[in-house]
Amino acid sequence: MLAFHVPEFRIEPLSRPELRKDPIIDRWVIISTDRLGRPVEFVEDGPAQPLARCPFCRGHEALTPPATYVSPNEESWLVRVVPNTYPAVRGRTGRVAAATGLFQNAEAAGLHEVIIACPHHEGSLSRLPPLHLAELVLAFQARLRHLGMLEPPQFPVIFNNQGPAAGASLEHAHAQLISLPIPPSLMAREWQAGERYYRDQGRCVFCDLIEAERSRGERVVEESDRFIVLSAYAARFPAECWILPKRHQSHFERIEPSAVPELGEVFSRLLRRLDRGLRQPPLNFYVHSSPPFAAEREDYHWHLEILPRLTGIAGFEWAADVNINPVPPEQAAAYLRSIEV
Ligand SMILES: [Zn+2]
Ligand SMILES: [Zn+2]
Ligand SMILES: [Zn+2]
Repeated sequence: MLAFHVPEFRIEPLSRPELRKDPIIDRWVIISTDRLGRPVEFVEDGPAQPLARCPFCRGHEALTPPATYVSPNEESWLVRVVPNTYPAVRGRTGRVAAATGLFQNAEAAGLHEVIIACPHHEGSLSRLPPLHLAELVLAFQARLRHLGMLEPPQFPVIFNNQGPAAGASLEHAHAQLISLPIPPSLMAREWQAGERYYRDQGRCVFCDLIEAERSRGERVVEESDRFIVLSAYAARFPAECWILPKRHQSHFERIEPSAVPELGEVFSRLLRRLDRGLRQPPLNFYVHSSPPFAAEREDYHWHLEILPRLTGIAGFEWAADVNINPVPPEQAAAYLRSIEV
């Protein structure tokens, strides 16, 4: 995604970013002029044009705002979290939208942080050791726990863009966290679907899905003691995979510390399979979890969704919200299983 730039079009900056709800359906957008000035290393169809000094490399800490989290310490950090200099959301008064009327909006109040994945200039998470990915998981957990204590309640979204075709503007591997004062549209859909299934069936839909997939086996990419990697049944993109804990757990930040290295291992193996099997595809991943302020719940089960972005989103997908995936998920699973990692 390139920064918006039309020289003749002078955009007046807004004093604050704003959330707006589509007047017809439950779909939110953020209008944020703060995003206009951000640096971009990737130009259309070309290799990255690195910035003279990468703000995410160790030794360049002065180029970012002070860290909100470092592991293990500021001098020899492995993972570092900093406020985004070009935030999509900001502040935290969180005035929530009016309940009625066509034009509903809310202050886009929340945190926008960059989770710098490694101290050296590395573009691909698949090249980080599994234990380093475990460090990244610990950083996600720490920030989710922090957000769970804020008032008004925050709905955090943790996501990663790798490669320009997946929306990355800087090459150095990093994830981001954006928290919103309202439930993000897709996550709300999943939470409601979980509630509905639980009401009807008395079970967690994800637990049932894991059981059904394990008994069929054809879409299971790999299993460890505590985690399972599935090629998604209704994958939107070729080789879309989900990582889930096999035992029910509603919150990502509540993964026991003893299980985090195993998750790092499983995640690393999946990223390496995708990298080797699909020749370093651009990809996105994100955490779907219960809101961190919410109590333990039986009807929702956290998971990571990983989307290789080998096919684009075109007119039909925008028009219909129905993706066309040319690769049967069962074949994707068999192929990914066959790759040595
Ligand atoms: Zn760097
Ligand atoms: Zn479950
Ligand atoms: Zn999900």
